[in-house]
Amino acid sequence: MRLLATYRPTLDLLLTPASPAFLQGCGLPAAWAGQAQWRVLETRFGLGLNFLVTWQAWKSYRQRPRLLHFVSTEACPVNAAELLQAAANHPDLLPLAVQLAKQWHGLLPGFHRLVFEDGHVLLTLGIGDAKTLLKEQTFEADSVCLDGVKPGQNADTSDPHLLKAVARCCRRGTRLVSFATSNSVIDGLTQCGFDVSRKAGIEPQVERLHAYFNPRWEPKKTPASLKPKPRAPARCVVIGAGLAGAACAASLARRGWQVTLLDAHDSAAGGASSLPVGLLAPHMSPDDSLLSRLSRNGLRATWQVAKTQLLAGVDWQASGVLQRRFDASGGLPSDWPEAGEHWSRLANPAELQALDAAIGNATPPTPNSSMPALWHAAGGWIKPKRLVQALLTTPGITPRYGVKVASLKCTTNANPEGAWQVVDEQGNCIAEAELVVLAAGFESGTLTHANLPLQAIRGQVAWGQSTDASALPPFPVNGHGSFVPAFPNDDGQASWLMGATFERDHHHAEIKATDQQDIYQRLQQLLPKTAMSLKPTFDQNQTHAWAGVRCVSPDRLPIVGPLDDVALPGLCVCTALGSRGLSFAVLCGELLAAWLHAEPLPIEKRLAQSLRASRYHFSE
Ligand SMILES: Cc1cc2nc3c(=O)[nH]c(=O)nc-3n(C[C@H](O)[C@H](O)[C@H](O)COP(=O)(O)OP(=O)(O)OC[C@H]3O[C@@H](n4cnc5c(N)ncnc54)[C@H](O)[C@@H]3O)c2cc1C
Repeated sequence: MRLLATYRPTLDLLLTPASPAFLQGCGLPAAWAGQAQWRVLETRFGLGLNFLVTWQAWKSYRQRPRLLHFVSTEACPVNAAELLQAAANHPDLLPLAVQLAKQWHGLLPGFHRLVFEDGHVLLTLGIGDAKTLLKEQTFEADSVCLDGVKPGQNADTSDPHLLKAVARCCRRGTRLVSFATSNSVIDGLTQCGFDVSRKAGIEPQVERLHAYFNPRWEPKKTPASLKPKPRAPARCVVIGAGLAGAACAASLARRGWQVTLLDAHDSAAGGASSLPVGLLAPHMSPDDSLLSRLSRNGLRATWQVAKTQLLAGVDWQASGVLQRRFDASGGLPSDWPEAGEHWSRLANPAELQALDAAIGNATPPTPNSSMPALWHAAGGWIKPKRLVQALLTTPGITPRYGVKVASLKCTTNANPEGAWQVVDEQGNCIAEAELVVLAAGFESGTLTHANLPLQAIRGQVAWGQSTDASALPPFPVNGHGSFVPAFPNDDGQASWLMGATFERDHHHAEIKATDQQDIYQRLQQLLPKTAMSLKPTFDQNQTHAWAGVRCVSPDRLPIVGPLDDVALPGLCVCTALGSRGLSFAVLCGELLAAWLHAEPLPIEKRLAQSLRASRYHFSE
């Protein structure tokens, strides 16, 4: 392990006046020594200096927590250049600011999870009004920085509703620092249950407040259904080594769980996640639906892993994706802001011209101008298997392949909270753990008594070597089906891929010759000129085929989280990723871990609730 320099408060005190005052006032970094996690809440992100100083202190402190959560809200985010400018005079902070600036994009209203230090420093940034955003979280903060004085923009620190919202996020003993020191702030904090004292400030501040959450009453608890009892990391079995299982295994191992990963195949990503290449593109809807918002959060999470752990141009490419629209669905919201253009926008003339080259003088049906094509700037292609392999390099995961699980048995003898025995087809117990995560795709429902309403949808794609590049679009195109024009296959040769068919209630991944014809017809509709150039390849059966089984839920959203904390303690699920496993898996892994440890949620509570396994599972 790398030796770390100890924290140097005196040096840091010189860096920026406000930020070390926050650390000092909260007793950091000493207070987090030996803790598994530390959760900081800040009510105004501003130029990010508090975050950078806290991150720097975490990096420098030997007895740092395994995970540092920093949750901050901001009504009017600055731009990346301003972040860098603010850190320019702080040599210790500048490299961190550079990392922050790289992830500082697409900041639409709502929460965004920015990930640093291999997932050990997590910034959950809420864009919008602090009071409203804090209602969308369920965690308890260990330290709070109360700031927000920017009239008309950020929250007013003396607003009793803001102070109540902050108090709701505190546990007895949470320490708070405020640079707003008016009597109304002191009164408001006192009424909310804080013991408050004035302290001398560090220049340029004249004074600051230190407060300690210690209400004379028992704080109202969030219902247990919304905030499960946090679990201490122990043994965990994840069943399924596809995208869902790998993502859950990585998120849990990072938090200290000893994860055994079981899969019936001989290697990782043997099921639907063995797809040669898949598309990653935001979902768009005029009302910016739940699915649209989730897809953006998911994309951010997946690209973050790809950018830090995979090879650009070989394993993934953020090429952008052009979406042809054949009907009125999938348009941009009418009030789509500029920040949204990081994700998607109307295609520009150059992109449309490049598309025309792949369409040719095709006969209808072509989209008309009332349904203009979209350019998903944040889209691209990625190889699912490589993503799975990268996730499984997280220390703490022990994979066991060629192991088919037949059933699970709950034993309360070993542990009052419950332990699970994993049983094979011969009735042998092959593993035992306090926590089991079912990530076995469609099979997840058959492994317990959980009545999960899962549907299997078989699908096939065709792929081949790219030859006449002039007839291929220069970027992936989706609409009816999707076409990836150029990705390096396992032999390193440039290949194209066209997908996909949909066969409902079919559980087997066999290849069907008729599906290749179906795929060709889809290509004719999506990109007629490309289809013409690839016709000989299809006619002479020179295409390759791949088939897999998707797993979907009735509302087409993933199913993630504990099934039933009372009847089935320690049994969780992560499945039903549907046709968007690449967008959802990494986010779902983090969401599962957040539920289990009562951590800050990576997305709004409302969105997270819509994915909870308990929405479908009812104990018999
Ligand atoms: C044709 C097609 C095209 C697609 N295109 C895209 C795309 O472009 N973009 C995108 O994001 N997504 C796409 N998808 C969807 C994506 O492939 C899935 O969402 C994703 O792979 C699901 O991952 P998973 O881990 O849930 O399931 P899987 O990858 O299927 O993993 C489940 C694992 O569980 C194991 N398992 C099952 N039962 C048992 C048991 N009893 N014991 C032990 N192990 C068991 C299996 O062996 C398997 O490895 C496509 C899917 C298909 C079929």
